[in-house]
Amino acid sequence: MTDKIIERTYQRYYFWLLRLGLVRSLALSTMIAITASVLCTAAVMLLMPDSRAYFWYNMIVAVASPLVSAPGLSLVAISMVYKLNVAQTALTLAAETDALTGVANRRYFMAQAERAFAEAQVTGTAFAVVMIDIDHFKAINDTHGHSIGDEVLLDVAQACRQALRTSDCFARFGGEEFVALLHRTDGAGAAVIAEVLRKTVAALAFENRTPPAVTVSLGVASYLANSESLHDILNEADRQLYAAKAAGRNRVVAADGTVRLAS
Ligand code: GH3
Ligand code: MG
Ligand code: MG
Repeated sequence: MTDKIIERTYQRYYFWLLRLGLVRSLALSTMIAITASVLCTAAVMLLMPDSRAYFWYNMIVAVASPLVSAPGLSLVAISMVYKLNVAQTALTLAAETDALTGVANRRYFMAQAERAFAEAQVTGTAFAVVMIDIDHFKAINDTHGHSIGDEVLLDVAQACRQALRTSDCFARFGGEEFVALLHRTDGAGAAVIAEVLRKTVAALAFENRTPPAVTVSLGVASYLANSESLHDILNEADRQLYAAKAAGRNRVVAADGTVRLAS
């Protein structure tokens, strides 16, 4: 409860800071401090008639002291709030991003997928999941070294990310496995997109660099009216991925039985 009040106050404060800008925020906080100081001094003078003899002296002090101190103190408060917000944004981004490839991480993907599943249950909006696994990646590491393996992960991730719509979520699921969440897409549509991803990776040119070619296997599953949980869909995509591996790799296998052989 207290946390929520602090959070809401902070958000409102930051909103007004952004709207007003630094100079106007400093002027406003100084004006508020001066007004409060003058009102308090006036109240003291009302209660202590003797002090009225020093009216102008009291008023000068009431205006001068906040005028000198408020801008500096406000500047410290504003810069702290600004820095906190920058740090908060960076932390949120880091918590959602895979450090090696720069795409979303599994945690972010799961949050998005849970949301898509909840929405699909209410509205019936279709969505699909594509599991992507680099073929014989261990051999790439063993033959060319771990750092080339890391570069391959980065290139594959970036190429797939760029091949998808920005509204879709593409994440590193772990190791050399990636996953795509395709919004408003049924199984057949997802199989087509998965094939685009497969071709995109197969066409990646690792010019002057080893390894010469990298391929991926992909498993596709989509939300169906009888889907009971997100895990059912993910497990189904995983099963199709392993079917693609078993069928010879470098291919897409979809839950509806669609098999696209490598061309
Ligand atoms: P398959 O075609 O059946 O998928 O075979 P594979 O070799 O790709 O699969 P396997 O599970 O045998 O090996 C995956 C390898 O991925 C093993 C692991 O060392 C490597 N790996 C996992 N994470 C990273 C990483 O961040 N960087 C690098 N370079 N390698 C990684
Ligand atoms: Mg693999
Ligand atoms: Mg794997």
